[in-house]
Amino acid sequence: MKVVEHVAELREHCESARRAGHRVGLVPTMGYFHAGHRSLMRAARAHDDFVVVTLFVNPTQFGPNEDLSAYPRDLAADVSVAIEAGVDILFAPSVDEMDPGGPPRTKVHVAELTEGMCGAARPTHFDGVTTVVAKLFSIVGPCRAYFGRKDYQQLAVVRRMTQDLNLPVEVVGCPLVREPDGLAMSSRNAYLTADERAVAPALFAALVDAVATVRAGERDARAVERRVADALAHRREIALEYVELRGAASLEPLTRVDGEVVLAVAGRLGRARLIDNVVIQVVDGRVDADLGVEVGADEVLDA
Ligand code: AMP
Repeated sequence: MKVVEHVAELREHCESARRAGHRVGLVPTMGYFHAGHRSLMRAARAHDDFVVVTLFVNPTQFGPNEDLSAYPRDLAADVSVAIEAGVDILFAPSVDEMDPGGPPRTKVHVAELTEGMCGAARPTHFDGVTTVVAKLFSIVGPCRAYFGRKDYQQLAVVRRMTQDLNLPVEVVGCPLVREPDGLAMSSRNAYLTADERAVAPALFAALVDAVATVRAGERDARAVERRVADALAHRREIALEYVELRGAASLEPLTRVDGEVVLAVAGRLGRARLIDNVVIQVVDGRVDADLGVEVGADEVLDA
């Protein structure tokens, strides 16, 4: 595996891979790898000939009072994980290398899907994400790009950007990987104290409880959201940011639970902002739910 720091060098490697007839797969990340990142790398390794993982803590997707300077980093550990996963290139540029003219003045903005949910508390976040992902698509020229369903709104927004701009990239959504106690894996879990870590699985437990009410016949979207909020209300450590039930692909607000929907939640716990979601399908009265996969089980799963 090569660790590459310069855009021009990355372009050259990707161009010669394409010239050799190889299909390039891209996994964009902010590093501090865990099993969620590893599952994306493995999915890319399984489908593509040449796998590029990018590691860039992108300043433009952080708000002014967010955790940019505190964001956890460990390049040496990340290099080992990427080698183990069979990655061909780990691209770890500096901020100046990615944005040589300073913060980009050209921004990619996806309307509507970025409103509400995480966009409410983080109004500039998704523009930062879509702009850097568009830049990475342009530099790498991948056939496929892999994103986790953990960041559900991000996946929907990137899909829409790719469709709207006719970008020749297949956006692949990969399963949400969880700790054995249900907590969605995240680099930000490193912020949690031992006491907070013990409370954190409450988010997933509340989502599972709400899915049970849908299985029992509840179809009112607000009632399902309230069920999650009520379950978390006695967890004083968690400051709930939102609970929203929306259309799974369009992210349109819904009044009824019907078809494929996503039930998403975000909250602050100590220094960490945690997000989680489940996808529920209601078809002909039959209820199915995608709750993600437990770490370890993801190894045998395909994207
Ligand atoms: P990040 O480094 O947090 O920006 O995440 C990089 C990619 O890994 C994104 O596509 C995330 O959705 C994905 N990812 C992060 N955590 C998980 C997880 N627990 N399960 C699956 N994918 C994840």
